[in-house]
Amino acid sequence: NDTTLAGRIAVVTGASSGIGEATAKQLAARGAKVALLARRADRLQTLAAEIEKTGGTAFALAVDVTDADTVRAAAEQIEQEFGTVDLLVNNAGVMLPAPVEELRTDQWQRQIDLNITGLMNVVGAFVPQLVTAGAERGVADLVNVSSIAAKNIFRNFAVYSATKAYVTQLSRHLRAELGEKHVRVSAIEPGMTHSELHGHVTDQGVQEWTAGIHDIMLHSEDIAETIVFTASLPPRVNLQQVTIMPTGQP
Ligand code: NDP
Repeated sequence: NDTTLAGRIAVVTGASSGIGEATAKQLAARGAKVALLARRADRLQTLAAEIEKTGGTAFALAVDVTDADTVRAAAEQIEQEFGTVDLLVNNAGVMLPAPVEELRTDQWQRQIDLNITGLMNVVGAFVPQLVTAGAERGVADLVNVSSIAAKNIFRNFAVYSATKAYVTQLSRHLRAELGEKHVRVSAIEPGMTHSELHGHVTDQGVQEWTAGIHDIMLHSEDIAETIVFTASLPPRVNLQQVTIMPTGQP
Protein backbone atom coordinates (compact mmCIF):
# COMPACT_ATOMS: atom_id res chain seq x y z
CA ASN A 1 0.00 0.00 0.00
CA ASP A 2 1.36 3.41 -1.00
CA THR A 3 1.07 5.60 2.07
CA THR A 4 1.92 8.90 0.44
CA LEU A 5 -0.55 11.60 1.39
CA ALA A 6 0.95 14.37 -0.73
CA GLY A 7 -1.59 17.05 -1.52
CA ARG A 8 -4.01 15.99 1.20
CA ILE A 9 -5.40 18.68 3.50
CA ALA A 10 -5.84 17.29 7.00
CA VAL A 11 -7.29 18.41 10.31
CA VAL A 12 -6.44 16.70 13.59
CA THR A 13 -8.32 17.56 16.79
CA GLY A 14 -6.59 16.92 20.10
CA ALA A 15 -3.26 17.42 18.33
CA SER A 16 -1.45 18.79 21.39
CA SER A 17 -0.63 15.37 22.88
CA GLY A 18 -0.89 11.60 22.60
CA ILE A 19 -2.60 9.99 19.62
CA GLY A 20 -3.47 13.32 17.95
CA GLU A 21 0.09 14.61 18.14
CA ALA A 22 1.54 11.36 16.77
CA THR A 23 -1.05 11.31 13.98
CA ALA A 24 -0.35 14.91 12.98
CA LYS A 25 3.38 14.16 12.74
CA GLN A 26 2.87 11.07 10.60
CA LEU A 27 0.36 12.74 8.28
CA ALA A 28 2.77 15.63 7.76
CA ALA A 29 5.70 13.26 7.19
CA ARG A 30 3.66 11.63 4.38
CA GLY A 31 3.11 15.00 2.73
CA ALA A 32 -0.27 16.13 4.04
CA LYS A 33 -0.78 19.74 5.10
CA VAL A 34 -2.04 19.49 8.67
CA ALA A 35 -4.17 21.87 10.74
CA LEU A 36 -3.60 21.23 14.44
CA LEU A 37 -6.52 21.85 16.83
CA ALA A 38 -6.59 21.73 20.65
CA ARG A 39 -6.77 24.21 23.53
CA ARG A 40 -3.08 24.44 24.50
CA ALA A 41 -1.71 26.95 21.98
CA ASP A 42 1.89 26.62 23.20
CA ARG A 43 1.96 22.88 22.61
CA LEU A 44 0.45 23.31 19.13
CA GLN A 45 2.99 26.01 18.21
CA THR A 46 5.87 23.77 19.28
CA LEU A 47 4.48 20.87 17.24
CA ALA A 48 3.88 23.07 14.19
CA ALA A 49 7.47 24.35 14.39
CA GLU A 50 8.77 20.79 14.66
CA ILE A 51 6.76 19.70 11.61
CA GLU A 52 7.90 22.73 9.58
CA LYS A 53 11.54 22.07 10.54
CA THR A 54 11.36 18.61 9.01
CA GLY A 55 9.93 19.96 5.76
CA GLY A 56 6.23 19.53 6.50
CA THR A 57 3.38 22.02 6.56
CA ALA A 58 1.33 22.67 9.69
CA PHE A 59 -1.03 25.31 11.00
CA ALA A 60 -1.78 25.66 14.74
CA LEU A 61 -5.23 26.79 15.87
CA ALA A 62 -6.15 27.04 19.56
CA VAL A 63 -9.71 25.76 19.56
CA ASP A 64 -11.97 24.37 22.26
CA VAL A 65 -14.07 21.94 20.24
CA THR A 66 -16.94 22.11 22.74
CA ASP A 67 -17.62 25.62 21.38
CA ALA A 68 -19.46 25.19 18.07
CA ASP A 69 -18.95 28.79 16.87
CA THR A 70 -15.18 28.62 17.39
CA VAL A 71 -14.98 25.30 15.52
CA ARG A 72 -16.98 26.72 12.60
CA ALA A 73 -14.72 29.80 12.45
CA ALA A 74 -11.65 27.55 12.47
CA ALA A 75 -13.08 25.47 9.61
CA GLU A 76 -13.49 28.63 7.50
CA GLN A 77 -10.00 29.85 8.34
CA ILE A 78 -8.43 26.49 7.43
CA GLU A 79 -10.29 26.44 4.09
CA GLN A 80 -8.99 29.93 3.26
CA GLU A 81 -5.43 29.21 4.39
CA PHE A 82 -4.96 25.67 3.03
CA GLY A 83 -7.92 24.78 0.80
CA THR A 84 -10.76 22.28 1.17
CA VAL A 85 -10.20 19.76 3.96
CA ASP A 86 -10.23 16.14 2.69
CA LEU A 87 -9.01 14.28 5.79
CA LEU A 88 -10.48 14.84 9.24
CA VAL A 89 -9.19 13.04 12.33
CA ASN A 90 -11.81 13.63 15.03
CA ASN A 91 -9.67 12.61 18.00
CA ALA A 92 -10.04 15.00 20.97
CA GLY A 93 -11.45 13.13 23.96
CA VAL A 94 -11.38 12.73 27.72
CA MET A 95 -11.70 9.64 29.95
CA LEU A 96 -12.83 10.05 33.58
CA PRO A 97 -13.97 6.67 34.92
CA ALA A 98 -15.44 6.40 38.43
CA PRO A 99 -18.10 4.32 40.19
CA VAL A 100 -21.51 5.61 39.16
CA GLU A 101 -22.64 5.77 42.80
CA GLU A 102 -20.10 8.53 43.46
CA LEU A 103 -22.28 10.80 41.32
CA ARG A 104 -19.37 12.66 39.73
CA THR A 105 -21.81 14.56 37.57
CA ASP A 106 -19.13 17.13 36.67
CA GLN A 107 -17.02 14.36 35.15
CA TRP A 108 -20.02 12.79 33.39
CA GLN A 109 -20.75 16.15 31.80
CA ARG A 110 -17.14 16.82 30.73
CA GLN A 111 -17.02 13.49 28.92
CA ILE A 112 -20.38 14.02 27.22
CA ASP A 113 -19.50 17.62 26.29
CA LEU A 114 -16.21 16.68 24.63
CA ASN A 115 -16.60 13.09 23.41
CA ILE A 116 -20.12 13.58 22.02
CA THR A 117 -20.99 17.27 21.62
CA GLY A 118 -17.44 18.33 20.73
CA LEU A 119 -17.12 15.49 18.22
CA MET A 120 -20.44 16.53 16.64
CA ASN A 121 -19.35 20.18 16.46
CA VAL A 122 -16.33 19.04 14.45
CA VAL A 123 -18.40 16.76 12.22
CA GLY A 124 -20.83 19.61 11.53
CA ALA A 125 -18.12 22.15 10.76
CA PHE A 126 -16.11 19.96 8.37
CA VAL A 127 -18.56 17.62 6.62
CA PRO A 128 -19.42 20.21 3.95
CA GLN A 129 -15.72 20.47 3.02
CA LEU A 130 -15.29 16.68 3.08
CA VAL A 131 -18.25 16.27 0.69
CA THR A 132 -16.82 18.92 -1.65
CA ALA A 133 -13.41 17.26 -1.52
CA GLY A 134 -14.94 13.81 -2.09
CA ALA A 135 -16.65 15.08 -5.26
CA GLU A 136 -13.51 16.85 -6.49
CA ARG A 137 -10.82 14.26 -5.79
CA GLY A 138 -12.82 11.03 -5.59
CA VAL A 139 -12.26 10.34 -1.90
CA ALA A 140 -12.19 12.11 1.45
CA ASP A 141 -11.79 10.66 4.94
CA LEU A 142 -13.61 11.18 8.21
CA VAL A 143 -11.77 9.23 10.90
CA ASN A 144 -13.38 9.19 14.35
CA VAL A 145 -11.31 7.98 17.30
CA SER A 146 -13.55 5.75 19.40
CA SER A 147 -12.28 3.09 21.85
CA ILE A 148 -12.42 -0.62 22.61
CA ALA A 149 -14.58 0.64 25.50
CA ALA A 150 -17.35 1.13 22.92
CA LYS A 151 -17.98 -2.61 23.19
CA ASN A 152 -15.87 -4.19 25.96
CA ILE A 153 -16.92 -3.85 29.59
CA PHE A 154 -14.45 -2.16 31.93
CA ARG A 155 -15.50 -1.70 35.54
CA ASN A 156 -16.51 1.91 36.40
CA PHE A 157 -16.16 3.11 32.78
CA ALA A 158 -19.91 3.37 32.11
CA VAL A 159 -20.17 7.00 30.99
CA TYR A 160 -16.92 7.04 29.00
CA SER A 161 -17.81 3.74 27.33
CA ALA A 162 -21.25 5.01 26.43
CA THR A 163 -19.76 8.12 24.79
CA LYS A 164 -17.49 5.87 22.73
CA ALA A 165 -20.37 3.56 21.79
CA TYR A 166 -21.97 6.73 20.44
CA VAL A 167 -18.85 7.47 18.37
CA THR A 168 -18.71 3.98 16.86
CA GLN A 169 -22.43 3.85 16.07
CA LEU A 170 -22.45 7.40 14.70
CA SER A 171 -19.56 6.43 12.42
CA ARG A 172 -21.47 3.44 11.03
CA HIS A 173 -24.44 5.62 10.22
CA LEU A 174 -22.39 8.44 8.72
CA ARG A 175 -20.55 5.92 6.57
CA ALA A 176 -23.83 4.74 5.09
CA GLU A 177 -24.92 8.33 4.54
CA LEU A 178 -21.70 9.79 3.13
CA GLY A 179 -20.12 6.84 1.33
CA GLU A 180 -22.04 7.46 -1.86
CA LYS A 181 -20.63 11.00 -1.75
CA HIS A 182 -17.10 9.55 -1.72
CA VAL A 183 -16.51 10.30 1.95
CA ARG A 184 -15.13 7.28 3.80
CA VAL A 185 -16.02 7.13 7.48
CA SER A 186 -13.98 5.02 9.91
CA ALA A 187 -14.09 4.38 13.64
CA ILE A 188 -10.71 3.61 15.19
CA GLU A 189 -11.00 1.65 18.45
CA PRO A 190 -7.75 1.54 20.40
CA GLY A 191 -7.11 -0.49 23.53
CA MET A 192 -4.91 0.93 26.28
CA THR A 193 -2.39 3.37 24.80
CA HIS A 194 0.30 5.56 26.38
CA SER A 195 -0.79 9.21 26.30
CA GLU A 196 -1.88 11.94 28.71
CA LEU A 197 -5.41 10.45 28.85
CA HIS A 198 -4.73 8.39 31.98
CA GLY A 199 -3.23 11.40 33.82
CA HIS A 200 -6.71 12.94 34.22
CA VAL A 201 -8.16 9.90 35.99
CA THR A 202 -9.01 10.63 39.64
CA ASP A 203 -10.35 7.19 40.61
CA GLN A 204 -7.74 5.24 42.57
CA GLY A 205 -8.98 1.80 41.56
CA VAL A 206 -8.69 2.69 37.87
CA GLN A 207 -5.26 4.28 38.42
CA GLU A 208 -4.02 1.02 39.97
CA TRP A 209 -5.48 -1.06 37.14
CA THR A 210 -3.79 1.19 34.56
CA ALA A 211 -0.44 1.01 36.39
CA GLY A 212 -0.71 -2.79 36.31
CA ILE A 213 -0.81 -2.92 32.50
CA HIS A 214 1.59 0.00 31.91
CA ASP A 215 4.29 -2.16 30.34
CA ILE A 216 2.08 -3.77 27.69
CA MET A 217 0.26 -0.64 26.49
CA LEU A 218 0.30 0.50 22.86
CA HIS A 219 2.18 3.61 21.79
CA SER A 220 0.35 6.60 20.30
CA GLU A 221 2.45 6.07 17.16
CA ASP A 222 0.83 2.64 16.69
CA ILE A 223 -2.59 4.25 16.43
CA ALA A 224 -1.23 6.99 14.17
CA GLU A 225 0.15 4.34 11.76
CA THR A 226 -3.28 2.76 11.55
CA ILE A 227 -4.96 6.10 10.81
CA VAL A 228 -2.42 6.84 8.06
CA PHE A 229 -3.01 3.37 6.60
CA THR A 230 -6.79 3.86 6.68
CA ALA A 231 -6.54 7.15 4.77
CA SER A 232 -4.04 5.74 2.26
CA LEU A 233 -6.14 2.86 0.93
CA PRO A 234 -7.54 2.96 -2.61
CA PRO A 235 -10.75 5.05 -2.79
CA ARG A 236 -12.95 1.95 -3.09
CA VAL A 237 -11.76 0.58 0.28
CA ASN A 238 -13.32 1.81 3.53
CA LEU A 239 -12.14 0.33 6.85
CA GLN A 240 -15.38 0.76 8.78
CA GLN A 241 -14.03 -0.15 12.21
CA VAL A 242 -10.51 -0.93 13.28
CA THR A 243 -9.87 -2.35 16.75
CA ILE A 244 -6.24 -2.16 17.85
CA MET A 245 -5.38 -4.03 21.04
CA PRO A 246 -2.13 -4.34 22.94
CA THR A 247 -1.09 -7.94 22.37
CA GLY A 248 -1.13 -8.60 26.11
CA GLN A 249 -4.44 -6.88 26.97
CA PRO A 250 -7.29 -9.40 27.38
P1 NDP B 1 -4.52 12.81 25.44
O1 NDP B 1 -5.10 13.24 26.75
O2 NDP B 1 -3.05 12.73 25.31
O3 NDP B 1 -5.12 13.70 24.26
C1 NDP B 1 -6.36 14.32 24.31
C2 NDP B 1 -6.34 15.52 23.38
O4 NDP B 1 -7.63 16.15 23.36
C3 NDP B 1 -5.33 16.57 23.81
O5 NDP B 1 -4.65 17.03 22.68
C4 NDP B 1 -6.21 17.67 24.39
O6 NDP B 1 -5.58 18.92 24.18
C5 NDP B 1 -7.44 17.53 23.50
N1 NDP B 1 -8.60 18.18 24.10
C6 NDP B 1 -9.11 17.98 25.34
N2 NDP B 1 -10.17 18.78 25.54
C7 NDP B 1 -10.32 19.50 24.40
C8 NDP B 1 -11.24 20.51 23.98
N3 NDP B 1 -12.24 20.92 24.79
N4 NDP B 1 -11.08 21.05 22.75
C9 NDP B 1 -10.09 20.63 21.94
N5 NDP B 1 -9.21 19.68 22.26
C10 NDP B 1 -9.34 19.12 23.48
O7 NDP B 1 -5.18 11.37 25.18
P2 NDP B 1 -5.18 10.37 23.91
O8 NDP B 1 -4.22 10.79 22.89
O9 NDP B 1 -5.10 9.01 24.46
O10 NDP B 1 -6.68 10.58 23.41
C11 NDP B 1 -7.04 10.77 22.06
C12 NDP B 1 -8.33 9.98 21.78
O11 NDP B 1 -8.05 8.59 21.89
C13 NDP B 1 -9.48 10.25 22.77
O12 NDP B 1 -10.68 10.39 22.06
C14 NDP B 1 -9.50 9.00 23.63
O13 NDP B 1 -10.79 8.75 24.15
C15 NDP B 1 -9.08 7.95 22.59
N6 NDP B 1 -8.58 6.69 23.17
C16 NDP B 1 -7.47 6.65 23.92
C17 NDP B 1 -7.02 5.45 24.48
C18 NDP B 1 -5.84 5.39 25.39
O14 NDP B 1 -5.66 4.36 26.09
N7 NDP B 1 -4.99 6.41 25.44
C19 NDP B 1 -7.73 4.19 24.23
C20 NDP B 1 -8.89 4.35 23.37
C21 NDP B 1 -9.28 5.54 22.87
P3 NDP B 1 -5.79 20.26 25.05
O15 NDP B 1 -5.80 19.84 26.49
O16 NDP B 1 -4.60 21.07 24.65
O17 NDP B 1 -7.08 20.85 24.57
